[in-house]
Amino acid sequence: MVLETPSAFERHEAAAPNDALLAQMRDVLNQMEQGILVWSSDGVCTLHNERIFQVLELGPHDLCVGMTREAFLSITVAQGVITADRKAEVQQLFTTGQPFHFDRDMASGKVINSFARPLRDGGYVVTFTDVTQFRRDAADLAAAKHQAEEAEQQAKAMLAKEQQWRTEAKALAELDEWLQCCKSLEELFTVVSKFMTKALPNTQGELYIYSNSRDVLDGACSWGDAHLQEHIAPDSCWALRRGRGYRFDADGFSFECGHVRDHPILRTVEDALCIPIVAHGDTVGLLHVTYPPETPKDAAEKGFELALQCGEHISLAIANVKLRDELHDQSTRDPLTRLFNRRYFLEALRAEHTMAARKNTPFSILSFDADKFKAFNDNHGHDAGDMVLRAIGDKMQEVFRNGETPCRFGGEEFSVLLPGADQATAANMAEALRLAIEDTSIRYGAATLPRVTVSIGTASYPDHGELPQDLLTAADRALYAAKAAGRNCVRGADHA
Ligand code: GH3
Ligand code: MG
Ligand code: MG
Repeated sequence: MVLETPSAFERHEAAAPNDALLAQMRDVLNQMEQGILVWSSDGVCTLHNERIFQVLELGPHDLCVGMTREAFLSITVAQGVITADRKAEVQQLFTTGQPFHFDRDMASGKVINSFARPLRDGGYVVTFTDVTQFRRDAADLAAAKHQAEEAEQQAKAMLAKEQQWRTEAKALAELDEWLQCCKSLEELFTVVSKFMTKALPNTQGELYIYSNSRDVLDGACSWGDAHLQEHIAPDSCWALRRGRGYRFDADGFSFECGHVRDHPILRTVEDALCIPIVAHGDTVGLLHVTYPPETPKDAAEKGFELALQCGEHISLAIANVKLRDELHDQSTRDPLTRLFNRRYFLEALRAEHTMAARKNTPFSILSFDADKFKAFNDNHGHDAGDMVLRAIGDKMQEVFRNGETPCRFGGEEFSVLLPGADQATAANMAEALRLAIEDTSIRYGAATLPRVTVSIGTASYPDHGELPQDLLTAADRALYAAKAAGRNCVRGADHA
């Protein structure tokens, strides 16, 4: 019978209570929710209530008054509620005279909190409280708090991402606006350099564009401290060979591109990206971006995503400018000789005339025609004739490279606009051209074609006419005069 030894109970009381009070106190202890156990200073059980059997899930023989703490704790170890090491620790704690507590994980899943408080006589009273629900609630609360914190972190991360996305989208829209306004590739390269410096700070990079022959890429522009190479070989880049963006990561499974490895200025590259510039399915160039070695990986990764997008926008802009250039070229150039065409010449003449009239400066035009070209065609064929026309075109490009406008007027007739040139200068330049053409020998298959000569007429503003049309007529007359004089010579409008 539990609590049936009043003497044990009474030992702790200053004054002996009467039997009725003792019985009531016993009843109270047994009715409590907690298990209660008293150890004497020498570790023997002197008192316990009935509830303790239920709380600690003990059998009727697992605890009794007079039992040693050592024996009781050994049973607890055998039940697997505490370990042998924990038992030794607990025994040690009972010698400290200090309160202590710990949780027991019962086989049933319950959690019992044992709270030991020292008594005046050196013994201990231990209370055993079922804290299963309390602990569960605390764990649930902690988990909920953790979840809430995680959700908050996620929301913050998403917000930051959204913010970054907005900033990037705004920057890209700005880039587009500038790129759309570019009238030439040179302008476009300036925009790209400035934009990349701002959009990807701390990076350095270069833009390369395929040459017309497509056997090399030419350095177009750079930003940061990058050294722009004059040319790089297409097969020295993994991105161009693989046909898609390639990230080199010194720590990962990747290989350095040849154009980086063989770079004339030595440096250690740890994180770099090559982006093929593709427009309308055609690879037109390469964007190369490098991060300094100390850059955190995630920062480099984010930057590369933006660099990829920049690559797409730049690709389209380059394609647009090239297309515009091609269309402009088609409308202003003669396809056989690549010289300017008649339309372009007349526009240039009108513009030059307006300026000369305003500034009161001279300018001249040359008008010339291949001699006896019909006979040449008849003797050597139309293809040989075309070769001669191309050779004349090449010579003109060679002779007129200081702002003059060399043009094929039609057939075997050519014109040149000479801004700022007076009669004498025009005569000298015409003579230089005549000689250069006369000296040109052209190989056609195994043979060398007979030399072709030209007759040149010159006319100058304002001496030979006030209006462009007057000057053209004057130059033509001079040309006929040169023909009449025996061909392969120069005549000024004064002689016409
Ligand atoms: P002249 O010294 O008086 O100028 O004699 P010409 O034979 O050159 O004069 P003409 O105007 O009678 O002949 C021009 C010739 O140029 C006729 C045509 O066969 C040739 N020609 C015009 N355009 C081309 C061209 O695009 N390719 C070739 N191969 N021949 C052309
Ligand atoms: Mg002719
Ligand atoms: Mg002719």
